[in-house]
Amino acid sequence: MPRRKPTTSPSRRTTTADARPPPVTLPLRLFDRRRLLLLVSLLLSAGFFATTLFGYFVSKQAIRDAIIGQDLPLTSSNIYSEIQKDLVRPVLISSTMAHDTFLRDWVLGGEKDVSLMTRYLREVKERYGAFSSFFVSERSAAYYTGDGLLKRVSPDEPRDAWYYRVRDMQAAYEINVDPDLANADALTIFINYRVFDFADNYIGATGIGLTVDAVRRLIAEYQQRYQRTIYFVDAQGRVVVFGNQTDRTPDLHNAPGLGQLVDRILREKSGSYQYSADGDNHILNVNYLPELKWYLFVEQNEALALVGIRRTLFINLAISLAVTLVVLFLTHLALLRYQRRMEDLATTDKLTGLLNRQAFTLFIDRLMADYRRQPRPTSVLLADVDNFKDINDRHGHLVGDHVLQDIAQRLQGGLRESDIAVRWGGEEFLLVLRGCDLAEAEHIAEKLRQVVAEQSFAAGNQTLTVTVSIGVAEYDGRELIEQWINRADGGLYAAKNGGRNRVGVVPAPA
Ligand code: GH3
Ligand code: MG
Ligand code: MG
Repeated sequence: MPRRKPTTSPSRRTTTADARPPPVTLPLRLFDRRRLLLLVSLLLSAGFFATTLFGYFVSKQAIRDAIIGQDLPLTSSNIYSEIQKDLVRPVLISSTMAHDTFLRDWVLGGEKDVSLMTRYLREVKERYGAFSSFFVSERSAAYYTGDGLLKRVSPDEPRDAWYYRVRDMQAAYEINVDPDLANADALTIFINYRVFDFADNYIGATGIGLTVDAVRRLIAEYQQRYQRTIYFVDAQGRVVVFGNQTDRTPDLHNAPGLGQLVDRILREKSGSYQYSADGDNHILNVNYLPELKWYLFVEQNEALALVGIRRTLFINLAISLAVTLVVLFLTHLALLRYQRRMEDLATTDKLTGLLNRQAFTLFIDRLMADYRRQPRPTSVLLADVDNFKDINDRHGHLVGDHVLQDIAQRLQGGLRESDIAVRWGGEEFLLVLRGCDLAEAEHIAEKLRQVVAEQSFAAGNQTLTVTVSIGVAEYDGRELIEQWINRADGGLYAAKNGGRNRVGVVPAPA
């Protein structure tokens, strides 16, 4: 019989011992696990992300609404009422001074003894804890304080303009806030009260100056506790620093973000505004204080108010991520198990546990790809049980099934890990031997034939002898799979014809 020598792998014997080929795994994919996992992770993350972000934006809007609707207006009105409280007292004191008979008598008497006036003013100042007390006489233009005659006012002196304004005004008094003090800390409110004699002739102006410490303390406290910026703005849009120092630009028209809003705010006198500066959103509440002709600005940097819920957002996102990862991992495990199980079911023959014919078609594609990459002798055995019909007829199908299982085990037992055994048909088995040339395949076929023939099979309480015939063919490197197996089938046919229980070898075509 002409035997084709292997072209590659001259020392095939070593393959069994040293370089064992990798075990057979089937490339069967019932579904794409990776795509499924991707879908699951996308769905989970999208869901988590959407709900987390939705929650965040709802909270953010709630916080913003609270700031606009409650927090800032409340701060504003608290400060406003403190200011009014601070203003009522000095107005009352100044009114008392303007109607004081001693003061009017002393002026009408010719302003003779200055020490009397000085004592009077000092006493008022000390009793009421005022910052200063004063009287300016219309007749003499003298400016008296608790320390005596300070100076004489003059229409040409800009700093005395207030007196001439008060002299000509209709109202009984004015409140004048003087931010231009020598001592920058001591912002002072002056009450300038017009004084009339008993015949209703205008004789001068009196009043006191008060520091507004209470308001300043309140503002400082609000600024610190609620991280709000509180300041006063005059009719020209200039910041009058109040409370703790604010870092506002002196002219609000130049303030980033707020600048373009200022004219509108001054026009509207009070309201709620938003602007952004330095990437942060600022919420602003404005109230006009007519007594001072000032605007009270209370603003809050929204980012500071959102620190808390932003932290919650990040924690939620981290939890979502962790849950997603855990779910993915568990899904992955479940899918893997499920897929393995499905693959087993789809590729295994139920009766014998060998691969089924469907698995073979998948397997053989891989084998051919391997062969093209690295050609090496590969042979196929086709085994068929001899006279199996008789066994079924004589002992019944159940015994026939047991015999098939037993034969399958014996065949498998004689193979290496890299070989595969397929239940080809009813009582036919196909064995693919990798790294085996024809001679070795024949040798193995002979061994398998003996393994079947020389040990009897159990059939109920008796035993029976079963034989197989085996056809052998080595892949010639060119032919189609069908042709290759057909050649093995030819060998099998020859073995049957030759009397069964033998091996039929088919050499490669020339
Ligand atoms: P030969 O030596 O020429 O192969 O004779 P044979 O009787 O084995 O050949 P044939 O192909 O005529 O008979 C095969 C029998 O195997 C027929 C069928 O009923 C039986 N068979 C096929 N599958 C099974 C099975 O799963 N279980 C059992 N018990 N019998 C089976
Ligand atoms: Mg048969
Ligand atoms: Mg048959």
